[in-house]
Amino acid sequence: MPITFISSPKCLLHDMDPEHPEQPARLHSINDQIISSGIEFAIQFADAKPAELKQLYRAHDNQFVDSVIHDAPTEGHKWLDDDTLMMPKSLDAAMYAAGAGVNAVDMLMQGDVKKAFCAVRPPGHHAEYSKSGGFCIFNNVAVAVLHALEHHCLKRVAVIDFDVHHGNGTEDIFKDDPRVMFCSSFQHPFYPFSGDKPTKEHIVNIPIPAGTKGTDYREMVMPWFKKLDNFAPEMIFISAGFDAHAEDNLGHLRLVEADYEWITLQIKKIADKHCGGKIVSMLEGGYNLSALSRSVVSHIKALMN
Ligand SMILES: [Zn+2]
Repeated sequence: MPITFISSPKCLLHDMDPEHPEQPARLHSINDQIISSGIEFAIQFADAKPAELKQLYRAHDNQFVDSVIHDAPTEGHKWLDDDTLMMPKSLDAAMYAAGAGVNAVDMLMQGDVKKAFCAVRPPGHHAEYSKSGGFCIFNNVAVAVLHALEHHCLKRVAVIDFDVHHGNGTEDIFKDDPRVMFCSSFQHPFYPFSGDKPTKEHIVNIPIPAGTKGTDYREMVMPWFKKLDNFAPEMIFISAGFDAHAEDNLGHLRLVEADYEWITLQIKKIADKHCGGKIVSMLEGGYNLSALSRSVVSHIKALMN
């Protein structure tokens, strides 16, 4: 089954520092691994278009969006928060990263493809309604979700976030929106030190202790799939972070490629049953270049399975 791979050269231009883990080489390594794994010929490649203002305004406070755009540096750099830095081309990258998910939703709704993977950066899931955070400027997946709900009039969608960090930004944006079931697994206690307290029925957080291996992780996230089955989403979004990999030094979980394949197949079963197979997956974290690119290929192969 074909999959669309959406990216943009603009996403390579956000370059904070050669030593910074969230670096352009992440996308290069994914592209290289796709070619060397031989799956290139089964993939449709598409260039992202930038997000429109009205699409960003759906997910974020208008004043926050306006200030990010207005204050974007034309030279030097600007800190948006303790972790998130903007350079002269960072705004372009952020606009295309957010736009990619919107493009993916449109392609799926047109019926041309049923799966899309957005290889974008900066990541998005730490960006809250009115503030950036954790390397994230705009919340890419939230912008895509709200495009599906508001523009395409879907009634129920799910976001599954398996990044090693809690998707606090996505939870913040959808905490009062029961149209969106948000499932996040994350190392805890760990940055951003949120998500461990029960909140609403449609927010399904699963804190995971440091050192957890894949076999235990799989058991811990199993409650998601019953809840997702009952919720019957019309489209599924994945915040696909690969920093829970055992080789990734930014986290301390012990997942491997087979675990990413497993979780992708579980999500795919729900998508096949309830939403005609429609899945939009968006890259979040993942900082060990080899582990990241191998895991992305396992994830894409499982989506195509
Ligand atoms: Zn992360």
